[in-house]
Amino acid sequence: MKEIVVATRNRGKIKELEALLSGMVDRVFCAADLAGFPDTIEDGATFEGNALKKAREAAAFSGIPALADDSGLTVAALGGRPGVYSARYAGEGAGDAANNRHLLRELQDVPVGARQAAFVCALAFVTPQGLERTFAGRLAGQILESPQGSGGFGYDPLFLVDGFSCSLAELELEQKNRISHRAQAFRQFLDYLRQTDQMSGQAL
Ligand code: IMP
Repeated sequence: MKEIVVATRNRGKIKELEALLSGMVDRVFCAADLAGFPDTIEDGATFEGNALKKAREAAAFSGIPALADDSGLTVAALGGRPGVYSARYAGEGAGDAANNRHLLRELQDVPVGARQAAFVCALAFVTPQGLERTFAGRLAGQILESPQGSGGFGYDPLFLVDGFSCSLAELELEQKNRISHRAQAFRQFLDYLRQTDQMSGQAL
């Protein structure tokens, strides 16, 4: 029986993952399925560090292989901020609207052409036996001067995707899910699973 636990309480992410992993895994558990599941403190300096910390704690707690992700926005003109602070850029408990306003304020003197940014996702896979693998995805773009579109979440309305003439919030969800930083990292993980399955069947 191949099982995996995903260290998240986000139902949307679980659904997406169950679909991606179907055929490769018999059962996907999430934090809500396991009483007492640890709420990892995300105090790492990098996305990778946070994802690894979450996956390690989940694997140790559950005794089965664990997957965890961490993601956010990095803006070149801001020295990489908001980075690992993306969810709480405008302060602890701040929502998307406040974070977006804060980002626009921080960039008010930065001209079009110097507003390069990227969404980054780190994915960590850890087994109770101590196997650890990380995967990274990146979506490049520019920060707009005002929000555009109503889809997506987080910083999507301010993110003009390189190679597209619209913001991430204006893309169809299906399209976003094909190109996103998360999709890229998950595709690498799936390739890894397929390869190890074919070679030795050891990963899960
Ligand atoms: P999480 O830790 O992966 O849930 O994401 C942290 C924060 O990064 C979110 O609260 C958003 O502010 C931002 N973020 C991550 N991915 C996206 C995205 O695809 N679009 C917009 N914002 C994102």
